[in-house]
This record gives sequence, C-alpha cells and structure tokens, in this order.
Amino acid sequence: MPKAGPASVEFRNVSMRYGAVTAVDNVSFSIEAGKLVTLLGPSGCGKTTTLRMIAGLEIASEGQILIGGKDVTKLSAADRDVSMVFQSYALFPHMSVLENAAYGPTVKGLSKETARDMALEKLALVGLKGFEKRFPSELSGGQQQRVAVARALVLEPQVLLFDEPLSNLDAKLRRRVREEIRELQQNLNLTVAYVTHDQEEALAVSDRIIVMSNARIAQEGAPRELYEQPVDAFVADFIGDANLLDTTIGSVSGEMATVTLGQATLSLPARGLAAGPARIAIRPESLLIDGAEAGAGLPGTVRKCTYLGNHQDIMVATALGELFVVRYGAHAMLEPGTPVRLGFANSGVTLIPPA
Ligand code: ATP
Repeated sequence: MPKAGPASVEFRNVSMRYGAVTAVDNVSFSIEAGKLVTLLGPSGCGKTTTLRMIAGLEIASEGQILIGGKDVTKLSAADRDVSMVFQSYALFPHMSVLENAAYGPTVKGLSKETARDMALEKLALVGLKGFEKRFPSELSGGQQQRVAVARALVLEPQVLLFDEPLSNLDAKLRRRVREEIRELQQNLNLTVAYVTHDQEEALAVSDRIIVMSNARIAQEGAPRELYEQPVDAFVADFIGDANLLDTTIGSVSGEMATVTLGQATLSLPARGLAAGPARIAIRPESLLIDGAEAGAGLPGTVRKCTYLGNHQDIMVATALGELFVVRYGAHAMLEPGTPVRLGFANSGVTLIPPA
C-alpha cells in the first residue's frame, strides 16, 4: 500500500464557534511536513478545539484547513489521513494489545495477517514486543500510552496528533516518554501537532510552539525565540518565569533603547517601542545578586529564600518598590534582611509594550 508520507498542515483564518462561545478566533498558522509543532496555552484557550479541527472531529465554522496542500475543511475525520492519541488513551478494554494496535487496518478491511503484521511492527517500535496478548487493564499507564501511540501510527498517517499525552503519567516518566515521542517523530519523519499546557514540555519537544490565549495566537516561534523574545507580558510569564515591571524608555537610538532601573542604566533592543512608557520582563536567572559594581545596580533587601534542591528562589524587595524573584545557586545561605545589589545579565531582559 503506497503511503503519502508526512504532510504539511495549514490553517487560514479559521474560527470555531459553539453558540455564543468562540473557542478559536480567526487563527492562521502552518506546520511544515515532518515537524513537531506544539499548541501551548492555559486551560480553555482553544488548543484541543484546534487539534480536533485538524482531525476532522470538529468542522470549522469559518476559514480553510489544508493538509498536504489539499483543502480538507469540510472532510470528515474518516476521510482525512490523520490519527490522534487521546489524553485518556481511549484503548478498547475488551481487546488485547495486538487487537487494539491492529484496529485501524482491520476496520479498513485489510486481511487479518496484514493487520497483524502492521500492528506487530508498530508495537515493536514503541517497545511493546512480548505484550501483545495482554489487555489494557494489565498494563501500566506508560505502557497503555505506548499502545495508544502504536495504534495511532499503524496506518502511517500523514499527520499525527497528540492531546496532552503525558498528563496521566508521573513526573519522571513524563520526561522519559516525551523524549521517546520526540525521537519517534524525528526518526519516522512524522508531522505532529501536540497539545500541552506545560511550558517545559513544549520547550523540550517542539520544533515550533504556537502560544494560544483566549482563542487566538499570542505568539508563534521556535522554543528559544519564544523564551528569549516574548512579544508581551502573557508570553513572557507563560513560557518560563518573568519579573514584570512598568518602566519608562528614556531614549531610543537606532535599534537600542535606554532604560534606568535604580542606579543601573540598561541598553536594550527597542523592539519597535518608542521613548515613553513600556514594560520590562526580567528572567529570574538574569538577575545577579551582588553582580553590580559598587554604586551601580539596583539596591534591595532579601525578603525570603526558597530552597529548591538545585537552586534557590530569592525574593528581593528593591528600591523600585517591586519584589523580584532571583534564581540563585543552592550553596550559599542568604538571611532575610541581607542588603544586596542586583546586577543584570546581558540576556533575559526584554522590553515589551506597556500594559
Ligand atoms: P483544556 O486545556 O482545558 O483542555 P483547551 O485550551 O484545550 O483547554 P478547548 O477545549 O479547545 O480549550 O476549549 C476552548 C473553549 O471552547 C472553552 O471555553 C470551552 O469551554 C469551549 N468549548 C469547547 N468545546 C465546546 C463544545 N463542544 N460546546 C461548547 N463550548 C465548547
């Protein structure tokens, strides 16, 4: 059976309305063939609805959806070459592992032997050789998840969808399985759309991330781009942690803006902003305790230290009247009340538009 191979996905001004609720509002993006793109955002922002529209489980109210350049907007799920791994795995409890994995080809009317061979190949691929006769109730959560992946892969779909695939696994396993999913995607050259609300998971597995907020796209980009150049306070705070504060751009010269924080004068990329009110997003790891020369930096006082094993989060009350969170090594103790002077690293300090 000749397979089409991985396909691109394109959304053109797509909206989805349920009565008065707009779950997805005029969204456009594309996923290149063979890439893994994550839809990331808080609960209710429209991620799952977007995924279900790729699958054909929801038909868009407006706009156009293309898979491999072909308009599939009105096609039902059965007529799209797309498979989905559900959050709950949705395995058939009365079927063995092998029967679950062979379900797709069996329903398609392929011979029992062919369906079996296809299922065995994909089960081996996800590390489940020897588990074929078991039933889902006889498997761990991680193993059930692998069966769901094998079942979704069995017909070698043009696009594979994952809806929060790790949410039922414990933290350690989650990290291992996300690496496995990424390896599988790269080794098999799959086009994957992946939904999560976990920013670390998104950073770890994605070629690109689409951050959604209130049914719209807040920002789209490569993981590093989103972390280092968030377009607004929402993205800065959702991807990683950020100290956000109102500031004033003193002057702009060429591409660079000058901002004064305490006794520190920072020269930062202006990012299209003019002199006047702005906000600044500072990563906790970009603040350096006693990292400024005498008389420079931002004076403050340690308020609280939270020990987190490999680092500490230090709360510092500053002369600006703002509390800052500073990521600090786990070795030294800093007593509350200790006066400090904050310096600023060269990266992780970003100007964003005013609130
Ligand atoms: P979560 O992470 O909680 O699953 P999500 O980002 O995936 O959230 P969606 O499930 O896509 O969000 O839902 C987006 C919005 O659309 C929500 O306000 C939700 O209540 C609404 N919605 C989703 N499905 C339906 C439906 N079938 N009928 C009515 N409203 C719906």
